[in-house]
Amino acid sequence: MTQMKIKNNYQTSPCIICVALTGSVPRKKHNKNIPISINEQIESAHECFEEGATIAHCHVRNNDESISFSPDKFFKLKEGLRKFCHGMVIQFSTGGRYSLGKERGKMLSIKPDMASLSVGSNNFPNSVYSNPPELIDWLIEEMNKYKIKPEIEIFDLSHLFKAAELYKDNKITGSPYIQFVMGIKNAMPADKSVFNFYIKKIDKLFKEASWCAAGIGKYQYKINEWCIKKGGHTRTGMEDNIRLNKNMLAPSNASLVKLTANICKINKRPIANWKQTRQILGLPLKFN
Ligand code: MG
Repeated sequence: MTQMKIKNNYQTSPCIICVALTGSVPRKKHNKNIPISINEQIESAHECFEEGATIAHCHVRNNDESISFSPDKFFKLKEGLRKFCHGMVIQFSTGGRYSLGKERGKMLSIKPDMASLSVGSNNFPNSVYSNPPELIDWLIEEMNKYKIKPEIEIFDLSHLFKAAELYKDNKITGSPYIQFVMGIKNAMPADKSVFNFYIKKIDKLFKEASWCAAGIGKYQYKINEWCIKKGGHTRTGMEDNIRLNKNMLAPSNASLVKLTANICKINKRPIANWKQTRQILGLPLKFN
């Protein structure tokens, strides 16, 4: 029944656009428009919110642009986003390209609406993205403790089965929100048949789940299209891709959100406003 319902609503269901503002890799030398300071991030998020993005995926940086896990910085970012982007879903990254330990979750006590949760390890272009089982368990416990909804990151097929196990064991409760990441060198490529298989498996492995996907670099636009056409949600932003097109660097995160919003328009998918986004994700409409 549920599956039928989802299928019937594919074309008309609102699409959530997430913007990954900064990430941990790109620097000003790669694209001077990438927001690094908290103020730049808030300003960028606000522009994106006005263009239709309703989730802000957040990393924080030090003044020299290196990656930071400072709870103080995350606190300031959350405060600014609440003030200037009222209703936008705040999602902290617990991704650990440069850290293997619990440092990655120490900002969870600030209680963002969501946090990313990687559930397996894989290779990145020049490193191993290490997510040992005990760290995964600890991050889930922390998220449950602070009532934070995880966005489950699937960098490889086995991660989806791990997510299903965590769901079956009631470690992940409620309706899971699952994101496929495709197109990172040395991890899962942006392969259409794998994408279709992922979606089919979600229907089989979870009673109820929503999904989105992120394409890295030149695959961003293509993955946006795949998601929007298949009834999923989607992610854009300069964390994943610093270019507007082959010939031009993105002038802003908002310019990328505009591209994604336009794909929604072409495919007649309404863009989820912040209330719809919170309803789809099972997040409260009142928050602090
Ligand atoms: Mg990230």
